[in-house]
Amino acid sequence: MPSERLADFFLPYHYQIKLDINLKTLDVTGQTNITGNLQKPAKSVRLHARGLMVKQIDLIYGASHHHELKWKTNSEASELIIDLPEKFPQNASMEIAVTYSLKVTETMEGIYPSYYKIGSKKKLLLSTQLESHHAREAFPCIDEPAAKATFDLSITTSKGQTVLSNTLVKGEQSEGTKKTTLFETTPKMSTYLLAFVIGELGYKEKTTKNGVKFRVYATTNNINRVDFALETGGKVLDFYNKYFGIPYPLKKCDMVAIPEFASGAMENWGLITYRESALLLDSKNSSLFTKQWVALVIAHELAHQWFGNLVTMAWWDDLWLNEGFASWVEFFAVAELFPNWNMWAQFVSEDYHSAITDDALANTHPILQPVNDPREINEIFDNITYRKGSSIIRMLHAYMGKKAFRKGLQNYLKKYQYNNATTNDLWQSLEESSDLPITKFMKAWTKQKGFPLIKWSQKKASILLTQERFILSPHERALSKDKTVWPVPLNLIGTKNHFTLTKRSESWKIKPKKQIKFNIDQTGFYRVHYEASKLKNLNLLLREKALSVPDRAGLVNDVTEMARAGYSKTHEILDFLLVFQDETAPPVWDMISAFTANTWLSLGDEKFYVHFKPYGRELITLQYNRLGWKKKTNESHFDTLLRPTILAMAVKFEDDKAINKAKDLFIKWSNGKSLDPDIRRIVYAASMRHGGISEFNLLHSAHKNEELAEEKRRIAAGITNAIQPEIINKTLNLLNSSEIRQQDLVSWVFGLYANRFSREKVWQWQQNNWEWIEKTYGGGHLISYFIQSLAVFSSEQKTREIKNFYKNKDLTGIKRTLDQTLETIELQAAWRKQDYRSTLSWLQQYK
Ligand SMILES: [Zn+2]
Repeated sequence: MPSERLADFFLPYHYQIKLDINLKTLDVTGQTNITGNLQKPAKSVRLHARGLMVKQIDLIYGASHHHELKWKTNSEASELIIDLPEKFPQNASMEIAVTYSLKVTETMEGIYPSYYKIGSKKKLLLSTQLESHHAREAFPCIDEPAAKATFDLSITTSKGQTVLSNTLVKGEQSEGTKKTTLFETTPKMSTYLLAFVIGELGYKEKTTKNGVKFRVYATTNNINRVDFALETGGKVLDFYNKYFGIPYPLKKCDMVAIPEFASGAMENWGLITYRESALLLDSKNSSLFTKQWVALVIAHELAHQWFGNLVTMAWWDDLWLNEGFASWVEFFAVAELFPNWNMWAQFVSEDYHSAITDDALANTHPILQPVNDPREINEIFDNITYRKGSSIIRMLHAYMGKKAFRKGLQNYLKKYQYNNATTNDLWQSLEESSDLPITKFMKAWTKQKGFPLIKWSQKKASILLTQERFILSPHERALSKDKTVWPVPLNLIGTKNHFTLTKRSESWKIKPKKQIKFNIDQTGFYRVHYEASKLKNLNLLLREKALSVPDRAGLVNDVTEMARAGYSKTHEILDFLLVFQDETAPPVWDMISAFTANTWLSLGDEKFYVHFKPYGRELITLQYNRLGWKKKTNESHFDTLLRPTILAMAVKFEDDKAINKAKDLFIKWSNGKSLDPDIRRIVYAASMRHGGISEFNLLHSAHKNEELAEEKRRIAAGITNAIQPEIINKTLNLLNSSEIRQQDLVSWVFGLYANRFSREKVWQWQQNNWEWIEKTYGGGHLISYFIQSLAVFSSEQKTREIKNFYKNKDLTGIKRTLDQTLETIELQAAWRKQDYRSTLSWLQQYK
């Protein structure tokens, strides 16, 4: 049964919040006045509050002022229950004034600090993360997305700080060493979108075409790294103004880089906060990949200013709509603004690939998921919500056509602005603009878990098609009784014909050519099975260069997963991949590299690697020789992106020339010579792998002195590549030290798991430190990365060990991730059992 919504009893329409924040002790005193209406006759009012020490509650009702009401707290439900002096009628309008204090938390949610250094000087920045249900940790409220209200915020704190919130500053008052900043009233919005930042900040600004004051803020040492964000953000805002057909709703828009941040960014209305590596770009030290990433994250967050903030999901079970849409439109906007980046091809190897891989597990979940308790929300901030969400919106966009899609979207935003909506409301608007059965079409894709595998055979004048749910694990597949049917939009390269498969088995009357590739540009969210004989025909299409980049990336993705699922033999796929030696597009190589890495991980042992390495070297030689280590003047965007992928493979497959080159560049770098940021990660990793303590010391001291978050991360990826036990131990000792920012630890842990020489040791570390990990990361979504990282094992014994360890642990928010991880390990073990021998014997031709 869904739990009660507090807004059904008391609905606020205005908040006045005054906070006095002591930056030395991190104590906060607060006064929040909430004005709202009773939705039902009542003798008490329930508000959300967590960790607030309430001192006094008063009530203003008409002309009467009631002092010191009684209250109790229900800490389990995070509720404050206030006794009213009498029973009040429905629609009674009242103002409740709560005086309280609170302590700033250290867990990257609510009001929290970031500690950072400029040179040797320690600094503090205070900011907020109130999504999904942490507004109640800053002020008493009805902390539900549908309870929209206006807010007047004022903050008192030490002088000399920049104080920012959602709206423009209305006034400042100074008293002694303190300053009070008053902000203009916000538009009507959800509590989770309120935000403020206090710190020593600098900014750069511009005014957009529509007259919006647009600023990018960062800590003072980073101020020369905001130019790309300022320029891109301004362009994206102008683009959305036109695309959504509604001008940006606020007078100003600030974007701020925060030193400690749990996710990539947060779309607070008018005050968007970012992890530093998702906003800052250094002209000498940032990679091209980071540049694309920054553009995508900005486009994502700015889209939320309309889709999410102006129109908000009615409840968290529609989170997918917010996130899926923003994750689709970020590609849409960046593809428009940077046409030569070929973003839609990259979508296939990014969002589409991760979503369709995760959704192939038996332990996946439907996009639309009932959420009763907000504590369940953390677990749905996952690939299915974001990336299956964006993938099926892309499919819908292709199905409807761009004109009808945009019109329906504009109507939806207009109709529900400053209000809330559900998934069905969007389908309704899109149905009206297109005359297509959108609700019916999307029902299966959102309410059912998984996706179909299409099998097919060619008849004289038709193609016989069947569909069944694709489950990666043969074991789980055998157990499954799933008879789900999807409406599958089918099309073929080289024809204009379309067909929607709506039954388990159906005939499509079409006279196809010999070479068939389904799913043009891989816009459909399904897999197609091509058996060995069909692959041979596809070879021809590939040689004729008849397939687009998304088609090639999608094809590799479809074909390689068939090996993992046991539908094809691994060696047949490895053989097929050799046709891609002259391939030049990074999304295709990302898919090839993902498969070879999976094979290496699941099937590999020392004997296997001996023969796998020469195979791998043959696969990449052509590209390795073409690209080399040095950027060419005016080389293509794709060549710059592809180089690190190919070099990383060369190092993994132990190409001597590549390793020596990396070592040589490392020595030059350690002597102060500049090193291309696009290849730094590989240079660090290869030198650490084939080096020792002196490489470790160099990287370690570079990490200590580095201020750029992106570079710190690359160095971490280098350090975690060591093979010597004493270096691994040194690294493990760093993990819970102050040297590593809280937000960055997961990437260190991930690196240590990915390295087969440190895998076992970091698993031991994780078990020994689980209590600390829980305390530091529990309740947020970073904790699930500690579980996901375990998917590098591939033995049944390991699944038993992991199950055993987590048997008696609190699994709130990580239960599904754990089940998915165990399923992945099991299926890797099964794959190994199935294909190890035949693959090894095929690989033995490579010496
Ligand atoms: Zn988002």
